[in-house]
Formats: sequence, structure tokens, C-alpha cells
Amino acid sequence: MDDCIFCKIAAGDIPAEKVFEDGQVIAFRDLNPQAPTHVLVIPKRHIATLNDLGPDDEALVGHMHAVAAGVAKAEGFADIGYRTVFNCNEAGGQTVFHLHLHLLGGRAMHWPPG
Ligand code: AMP
Repeated sequence: MDDCIFCKIAAGDIPAEKVFEDGQVIAFRDLNPQAPTHVLVIPKRHIATLNDLGPDDEALVGHMHAVAAGVAKAEGFADIGYRTVFNCNEAGGQTVFHLHLHLLGGRAMHWPPG
């Protein structure tokens, strides 16, 4: 998608602080972190929201979670705990319409979320 900021990050056209990359996904630090570690895991392929997943995307979503768990381990807070979040559409708080899994760690999380 030409006008998608996360597609541009995936293509290397705009910079991001990458912490992981493989053939399917990239993980990079959020520009406006909400925790000491705030990383976004995105698929390289454009998928707008969770509602747009196809039947063949289920393994991809599992892989995104596995990558988030790996980053949590690398950042040193896997055992103490962390949070992963998909925001979906406006009421869910989604502002960038390219699927992304938030990984938040390094502080205690609260429930319910705001
Ligand atoms: P959401 O509200 O779930 O759509 O989350 C979008 C996230 O993308 C926000 O936490 C933003 O801070 C983050 N974000 C937007 N643009 C960039 C960028 N160029 N690099 C890193 N993070 C970004």
C-alpha cells in the first residue's frame, strides 16, 4: 500500500529501530512508547486490521506472538511478565491501519486497560 507508513517501514523506505526481522515480520520500537519497552510486530504484507485476516493468516498471527515472546525474552522481562495487544478499528484504539501487535514490558500493567 503506497500510503501505509508501516508498509514503508517494512520496505525500508522510512527508518525504524528494528529489533527483529525475518521473512514474514518485522519488530521495531514504537515512536511513542507507553512502557520502558514498547515494540510493534508487523507482518511485511499489508493487512489492515484483525478483521481482514484470511484463513491462511492464522499461522502468521501465531508467529507474530512467538516473535513478541522472543523479544520479551531478549529484553529481559519474559519471566516477570508483559502485555501484548492488538487494537482493532476506531473503538479499539487503532490509529495505523496495518496490522500490528503491541509488546509492552518493563513496568507493571494495569487491568482493565483504558
Ligand atoms: P495503534 O493505535 O494500535 O494503531 O498503534 C499505532 C502505534 O504506532 C502507536 O503506538 C504509534 O506510536 C506507533 N507509530 C506510528 N508511527 C510510527 C513510526 N513511524 N515508527 C514507530 N511507531 C510508530
